[in-house]
Amino acid sequence: VSETLPRIAIVGLGHRGLAVLERIAALAGRLHTPTDVLIVEPHELGVGVHWRDQPEYLWLNTVAGQATAFADADMVDGAPVLGGPTFVAWCREQGVILDGGMGGPRPVDVDDFVPRRVWGDYLAMAARHVLARLPRCVTVQIHMGEARQVQSAGGGRGAVVLLENGTEHRVDLAFVTTGHGIRSDRPVVAKDDDGLDCYPLPQTLDAIAPGQSVAVTGMGLTAFDVMAALTVGRGGQFVRVGDRFGYRASGEEPSIVLTSRTGHLPCARPGRPRTVPKPYGRIFTDQALAEARGGRSDGRLDFREDVLPLLRSEILERPLFAEQRRLAEVVLTTEPRWFDNAENYADAVVADAQLDVVEAVEGLEVSAFKEAMESLRDLRDRLRDVVLPPGLTEQGHRDFFKIIPGLANRAAVGPQLDRVRELLSLIDHGLVCLGPGPAPTVKRRDCDDHWTIASTRLREPCEVVVDHVVGAHLEWPRAIGGRDPLAMAMREWAAPHPADTRYLRLDIDGRAHQLDGQTADGVIVLGPPSEGSNYYNNYVMWPGARSSLLVGVDRVLRPLLGCAI
Ligand SMILES: Cc1cc2nc3c(=O)[nH]c(=O)nc-3n(C[C@H](O)[C@H](O)[C@H](O)COP(=O)(O)OP(=O)(O)OC[C@H]3O[C@@H](n4cnc5c(N)ncnc54)[C@H](O)[C@@H]3O)c2cc1C
Repeated sequence: VSETLPRIAIVGLGHRGLAVLERIAALAGRLHTPTDVLIVEPHELGVGVHWRDQPEYLWLNTVAGQATAFADADMVDGAPVLGGPTFVAWCREQGVILDGGMGGPRPVDVDDFVPRRVWGDYLAMAARHVLARLPRCVTVQIHMGEARQVQSAGGGRGAVVLLENGTEHRVDLAFVTTGHGIRSDRPVVAKDDDGLDCYPLPQTLDAIAPGQSVAVTGMGLTAFDVMAALTVGRGGQFVRVGDRFGYRASGEEPSIVLTSRTGHLPCARPGRPRTVPKPYGRIFTDQALAEARGGRSDGRLDFREDVLPLLRSEILERPLFAEQRRLAEVVLTTEPRWFDNAENYADAVVADAQLDVVEAVEGLEVSAFKEAMESLRDLRDRLRDVVLPPGLTEQGHRDFFKIIPGLANRAAVGPQLDRVRELLSLIDHGLVCLGPGPAPTVKRRDCDDHWTIASTRLREPCEVVVDHVVGAHLEWPRAIGGRDPLAMAMREWAAPHPADTRYLRLDIDGRAHQLDGQTADGVIVLGPPSEGSNYYNNYVMWPGARSSLLVGVDRVLRPLLGCAI
């Protein structure tokens, strides 16, 4: 490592890696600290998983007003920033026009859902913007390729980054921001246990011919992407009359069987999205968590005894109408429920979705149900605190990650309201049907290439046979639409999490622990690969909202760049 210049590597320059580059530039620029940065990225800088060639009908699930690539002072506790346009400001500058439905085409507003491709364009612009505004003291070397290994240099001497061309780079700090892995150009392979891997859409679904049948395993955001690709992506059209949606088929669609473990659809994103975050609870508070920790000899929480009851009370102890309370209980249910028969199950799922749509139209501040559900989003930093040291018992940690991400996704990270209305119209139309009850088994048949989907939670058992299966549940950790060579290589030296060996063991700042018990001081893992060690790392940054990710990055950078702590 250089005696004079701090050297920092950023491995993977998607949204997260770009945020790290901005923090280096802003902090080094403030004190004119000469700094060398090595960026390693095989694809277009900034874009990451938000591919620019994806079809227009795949939307970002964050409203435009809650997304930015640039830190502002509020996001980093008043620290210096480089500055740049928020997503909405840039969309307006660029004249991005949305198909505004019956109101006609119009410019992007803060509460609009915008095609993910446009977000990818914005991220590409943001990378160019940051690189063009680097302070003179910061020099950047870009390696357009892959890192094969990142590990500690030993003895507190930083990290070594090994590239695919065989060169090794010694750095003081290496940020591993490899997100969802590397996009692959290889054709998708059908897997015996899980059917087709769905990303990148839509070409992964080419094997599904018009009129064939396909089971989609999962009812979350990925399933909604798959359904969009198999309907509007194949020339179908949704026709809107008032608040009702109809569907005009193109004839190119397959018939779709939608299945899931829990057996309920995620709640639609509510109207009137927050313009500023609301990170306070009434019952699930810092104080309540501190008291719960105080009651444990080692301060480690038991998830089911200490955390879940507080969260349930936060959601349920508010003036909800009987139907709202019933629906809230359904969302909170973590185990698949039993139903009499397939019809009975499908009717219940549709009725719940219709009720949720009514609440979503009323929106936040008006619907008590939607306010209750939004707690899972509002309080994500508090949920993050639950996991941070001293954290949870080992069983508590497993329970947390078994329950919370799925619950948060169902309650507060769901599809856009229109997407749920579209699904209801597809069910009405007969193109989509709900699989045989919650948690069905999916098995490839020996006799032919078909698949059997069999109920496990119906009193009158039921089976459905389909031509294809598409995996639409993103079991983490798993690369999306490609491969993740670095995640595999790091397993040679990085310690697994003691509670769950699928995850890495990281400290509060993302510093990796080694198998030999030492801490790899120079290796910081952020974003999706750090999920499971800590919580909620897969989100885009919200302008004006304190970002624990960025504040954490500053904490790591400051000593190296000579800034006051
Ligand atoms: C399909 C999809 C849709 C999503 N939509 C939303 C959304 O609407 N709203 C939201 O808040 N979040 C969304 N997310 C969550 C997502 O995690 C974040 O939005 C965010 O983009 C993640 O950024 P990242 O930089 O950590 O990872 P990525 O965007 O995955 O970027 C990682 C980068 O690292 C590179 N890389 C990987 N391995 C290597 C290596 N070995 N060497 C060099 N480079 C490497 C990759 O090429 C890539 O450019 C979505 C995720 C997916 C998968």
